[in-house]
Amino acid sequence: MALIVQKYGGTSVGDVDRIKNVARRSIAAQAAGHDVVVVVSAMSGETNRLLKLVSQISDRPSEREQDVVLATGEQVSIGLLALAIQAQGGKATSFLGHQVRITTDSTFSKARIKHIDAERIVEALKQKHIVVVAGFQGQDEQGNITTLGRGGSDTTGVALAVALKADACEIYTDVNGVYTTDPNVCPAARKLDRISYEEMLELASLGAKVLQIRSVEFAMKYKVPLWVKSSFTDDPGTLVCEEDKSMENVLVSGIAYDKNEAKIDINGVPDTPGVAAKIFGALSERNIGVDLIVQTASHQGRTDLTFTVGKTDLPHARELVERVAKEINAGAVETDVEVSKVSIVGVGMRNHSGVAAKMFQVLSGEGINIQLIATSEIKVSCLIHAKYTELAVRALHTAFGLDQPPVEG
Ligand code: ADP
Ligand code: ASP
Ligand code: MG
Repeated sequence: MALIVQKYGGTSVGDVDRIKNVARRSIAAQAAGHDVVVVVSAMSGETNRLLKLVSQISDRPSEREQDVVLATGEQVSIGLLALAIQAQGGKATSFLGHQVRITTDSTFSKARIKHIDAERIVEALKQKHIVVVAGFQGQDEQGNITTLGRGGSDTTGVALAVALKADACEIYTDVNGVYTTDPNVCPAARKLDRISYEEMLELASLGAKVLQIRSVEFAMKYKVPLWVKSSFTDDPGTLVCEEDKSMENVLVSGIAYDKNEAKIDINGVPDTPGVAAKIFGALSERNIGVDLIVQTASHQGRTDLTFTVGKTDLPHARELVERVAKEINAGAVETDVEVSKVSIVGVGMRNHSGVAAKMFQVLSGEGINIQLIATSEIKVSCLIHAKYTELAVRALHTAFGLDQPPVEG
């Protein structure tokens, strides 16, 4: 007998029939002899609907109150799923994040899980209940409701698997597993049987929303084997696991894109020590993460500084940057939301050169201008105009040989 944590995303609980389907699947897992904990997201579109309501009231909402609103989506789906399991003859109990003591820090809208005290879950499992837990939410030390960032139910699933020492963690979604790139954008994308934690971490951090990055970090740290599967088929899915030698044979194993970044340009920044620290210090104080950064060569004591932040952080970031720009006597601040980051990822890149150059050639061959570049040992990212995203992904997929399965050996 094993303890299994299953997480079902928004599409998988998108309507009543789909909730009944999830109920059937969790009952089947229990009937196979397992203890079953099910984590669910809000019904598809619900979190966006709630965000829209918030934005109709305020363009700079209090993040504490926004989290109070956003956390309601998951409450509906856990209640409905528990009812569906009961209607099919099973035993089920639903819990909100705070009821199973998912304790987070107080960073509203992107809180981090610090501790889980899963006593009530263990108790309910002993009673042979299927335990249904709300994803995406927790509570800070002061008892405030927090949410874990978009896609955060994945992280709830993996964190619960760690806390409960589960034997398996299964992430059920609307595609058959992890693909070489988003199958909804690139018809030639291929499903991977396995992918290393490290590559998955890069893909997730670069925009492949099939798994939230924090969930992969947890899985990697605690060595939880993570299965990504479809809730609509019986495909075995993709196993996210430790790297082995054969994975290095593939140069580029995946391509990701991210349309959720915005570009900020600060013109005429005085080229003196401490200026970058001032700008980025102000942003990090407000928990605004900065991604790609480029500084042009100094010209008459001034440089241009360009970087990207998450689109949702742009209003806050712009205000801060404009304030600092005035303080340091820099020029105009410009922003652009029509950008997209396209990235290639592969552990095989460690031992090969020329991969970045090939990426630039492919993009230029399609007439796509590169605005910013970033590289690491196992990835290359380029910021381009958003309208070329799909074209870039497909061209890179073909050029790096991902349309065909790799040759064994
Ligand atoms: P859920 O609601 O189940 O959490 P998400 O929408 O968050 O589902 O994530 C699944 C989606 O991730 C897929 O529908 C697909 O469009 C997208 N995706 C992006 N990159 C990949 C990839 N490399 N492999 C699989 N899916 C991907
Ligand atoms: N409902 C949340 C979202 O839409 C969390 C999740 O789906 O994982 O981001
Ligand atoms: Mg998701």
